[in-house]
Amino acid sequence: MSKEVKSDIEIAQMANMIPIKDIVKELKISEEEWEPYGHYKAKLSLTIMDRLKNEPDGKVILVTAINPTPAGEGKSTVTVGLGQALNKIGKKTMIALREPSLGPTMGIKGGAAGGGYSQVVPMEDINLHFTGDIHAITTAHNAIAAILDNHIHRGNELNIDVRRIVWKRVLDMNDRALRNIIIGLGGPLQGVPRENGFDITVASEIMAILCLAKNLNDLKKRVAKVVVAYTPEEKPVTVKDLKAEGAVTLLLKEALKPNIVQTLENTPALIHGGPFANIAHGCNSVIATKLAAKLADFVVTEAGFGADLGAEKFLNIKTRAGEINPDLVVIVATVRALKMHGGVSKDQLKEENIQALKAGLANLEKHVETIREFGLPHVVAINKFVHDKEKEIETLRTWCEEQGVNVELADVWANGGEGGRDLAIRVTKELSKANNNFKHLYDVTMSIKEKIKAIATKVYGAEEIELSPLAEKQIAIFEKNGWSDLPICMAKSQYSLSDDPTKLGRPTGFILHVRELKPSIGAGFIVALTGNVMTMPGLPKEPAAMKMDVDEDGKAVGLF
Ligand code: ADP
Repeated sequence: MSKEVKSDIEIAQMANMIPIKDIVKELKISEEEWEPYGHYKAKLSLTIMDRLKNEPDGKVILVTAINPTPAGEGKSTVTVGLGQALNKIGKKTMIALREPSLGPTMGIKGGAAGGGYSQVVPMEDINLHFTGDIHAITTAHNAIAAILDNHIHRGNELNIDVRRIVWKRVLDMNDRALRNIIIGLGGPLQGVPRENGFDITVASEIMAILCLAKNLNDLKKRVAKVVVAYTPEEKPVTVKDLKAEGAVTLLLKEALKPNIVQTLENTPALIHGGPFANIAHGCNSVIATKLAAKLADFVVTEAGFGADLGAEKFLNIKTRAGEINPDLVVIVATVRALKMHGGVSKDQLKEENIQALKAGLANLEKHVETIREFGLPHVVAINKFVHDKEKEIETLRTWCEEQGVNVELADVWANGGEGGRDLAIRVTKELSKANNNFKHLYDVTMSIKEKIKAIATKVYGAEEIELSPLAEKQIAIFEKNGWSDLPICMAKSQYSLSDDPTKLGRPTGFILHVRELKPSIGAGFIVALTGNVMTMPGLPKEPAAMKMDVDEDGKAVGLF
């Protein structure tokens, strides 16, 4: 590589940003349809959608990946790089990404706005408080909690069983000490004592709702349906019962407007919403994706974790909620991660190892099969790392060609859009063919058990599913409550196709164990939990926060 290697933040701080007013003008958005948040960020009005409702939709390109490993895959990097590359070859393109959460930023991840020469900027703002959406979601969520505890304190007319409250509080931070707490201590004037706990804001159902709502009215309807507690007879109590949906919607009215920024190469990017990809669906908002599809001819968007979680949920949940027609899937693979799936440890990744790479290809193979099952055209993007060996890249490329899978090298981290030119050309070529046979992998009217089985067998390659007695009991209750016709949101380890994070590559013959179900009625899905899912992460021994600072001029340091 000719360039000296700079950190993501150093590259981002050198960016040649165009004032956001010019980016917006270029998109033919009128004065009344946007509001500046400083010089380089803005919010777009939801009325643009009404104005453009009869315009044709641009092509929606979903970027997903193989199962993540500690070696890194670079989905956001490839998403941004491909967006820049499509613009370079003359295609009017926008990017739609998730908003980063401060929890992982302060913890292990550092910034989450792409990497190298394929980033969205202003990177510092995007990674810190941005336009305040996540804080608004925190407040909206906690308003419900406060109203609920006040209701109990004031006599509990709804007969809420304090042992059956399922609505916790949230905070956008990794803070394990808040996972389990007791509230209401201190005597009769301080509320009713009960067990409670905090989740991270991005795990809140309010975040999932914001990302699946089509408009303000739909948002309010969904919020009203959220189940917060049960009575002693196990009758659900909702936000509507607490009469809180109006206030919550009011608190979210600005957060529902998508945020516009730009990439290092001035490609417009909508960054909006960021739900977890385990207990929620892991995609940016329906509103942002649909709006980008109206404003541009191509939208490149991304879904969290690997194709077994993020893409499956994008395709089975988000497309249904938003009536989105996906056009193509890019599956990101790296030589490094494939070698890890083939058994190599992280400290050995710089060594050439064709045998391990070939063994790890089984993981990629499964994800390709899944996308084929969805009937969508696809291209494998090899996200190039500096230490990748020529022979390894060739092995990966040849394997894809032998399987009849489109493949291109993406050198977008080192070279920005220019490094994604071949990928962009290949993507547009595939998009020009009439080979889109998209279909959902299950029908929502199937039973909850059948839907879980369809995902487990078709997407994970499981032999069977096994439900705990608790999950079986819950299914009966959910059916009684009229909640069975919803899509399923699987909460599973992101590291493996199975529910055992140590089984890398392509495990076969396994049974997927479903421990518990959780109704997210407002979001509009049933969460199926396999194994333990952390909804309030903790900080690692050396949090990324310890490397962060701000200099005398107010410039951020150490945000990766
Ligand atoms: P994901 O979206 O899959 O979580 P990101 O795109 O956010 O991954 O990338 C994670 C980190 O890996 C970022 O710091 C990014 O700079 C780095 N990264 C991504 N691709 C490359 C690459 N080709 N070479 C070096 N570092 C990379």
